[in-house]
Amino acid sequence: MRKTLRAVLAAVALCGMALAANAPAPDFKLEKLGEGVWAAIGSDSGKAGANAGFVVGEDGVAVIDTFEDPGAAKDLLAEIRKITPLPIRFVVNTHYHLDHVNGNDVFAAAGATILAQRNVRAWMRTENLKWWGDKIKPEVKARVESLQLPDVVYDQGVDLYLGSRKIEVRSYPGHTGGDSIVYVQDAGVVFCGDLFWNRHIPNLIDATTKAWIPTLDTLVGYGAGKFVPGHGEPGTALDMKAFQQYLMDLRAEVAHAQSAGTREDALVQAVLPQMQAKYDSWGYFKEFAKSNIQQTAEELAGTKRRPQPAESATSATPTVPYLPLKVRLGEKAPDFSLPATDGSMVRLSAFQGHPVLLDIYEGFW
Ligand SMILES: [Zn+2]
Repeated sequence: MRKTLRAVLAAVALCGMALAANAPAPDFKLEKLGEGVWAAIGSDSGKAGANAGFVVGEDGVAVIDTFEDPGAAKDLLAEIRKITPLPIRFVVNTHYHLDHVNGNDVFAAAGATILAQRNVRAWMRTENLKWWGDKIKPEVKARVESLQLPDVVYDQGVDLYLGSRKIEVRSYPGHTGGDSIVYVQDAGVVFCGDLFWNRHIPNLIDATTKAWIPTLDTLVGYGAGKFVPGHGEPGTALDMKAFQQYLMDLRAEVAHAQSAGTREDALVQAVLPQMQAKYDSWGYFKEFAKSNIQQTAEELAGTKRRPQPAESATSATPTVPYLPLKVRLGEKAPDFSLPATDGSMVRLSAFQGHPVLLDIYEGFW
């Protein structure tokens, strides 16, 4: 399966790079979702590789994602220029996957500041190599390793202002561990990136479906009229719920097969017909259905590999002593002292003359 995914991505990326110079027409369609709010919808097999979008405010433009190919990004910039002469002030990368970031350099050259969740910057030039594995061509490797990185990173989110127009960027878990949505409240539009695939089977290579399912409830809770997916047409809350149901069905079917003692290929063969019966008509079924089953089996078994999160500012090495202290929930600790993991007692107020930071802070005293 990984081979299929790689082949699809590689074909799209390389064709796109080769054809970029004389692309005849944009490989995406623009859809106006509100005043100054546009979705750029890529086709399943086109060089754009994913959806993007942009928001025009009073004093500039914010772009959401930059496609899988710089040529498509140039086309997007040209389409924006037909709509407004205002500067491209911001680009938000919804996550690190190549189909959402490979046109970053086009917008950086146009003067945009690129923003993303902290892990996007950490993973963009490394984790994107895995689509090709060992057989990666030198020019593709060089391209991935020189992708335009975000200039600004955040942990939870950030608010952007285009004049008085407010755009909320918020990070949620599920798809990669570094995904963000872009909420344009005054238009009732949420750009979901790949946290939403509308009538399309998702890429779960980095996913945690357990976290993703409640994230979708949170996103539906925005109460927006339009949700723009990373792949597929813009949808409604009902489409979001249909996608959530897919993830729930997948987990339930895989768990059922695992509890019957099925493993690996036999598990895929047991689950695939159940998923096919319900989701055969969804885009990317052939590309991703089997790997979705394998990867969900790994997730449920606790063996799934995930990219390592970047160290955030709040988890940086403390400058005061850092002691792993274990305190039992509900247990009243002795005055001014706590038991350390080696069994000794540590005075909180004066350990070797320094204040002490707690590692585990459960319970109350
Ligand atoms: Zn994508």
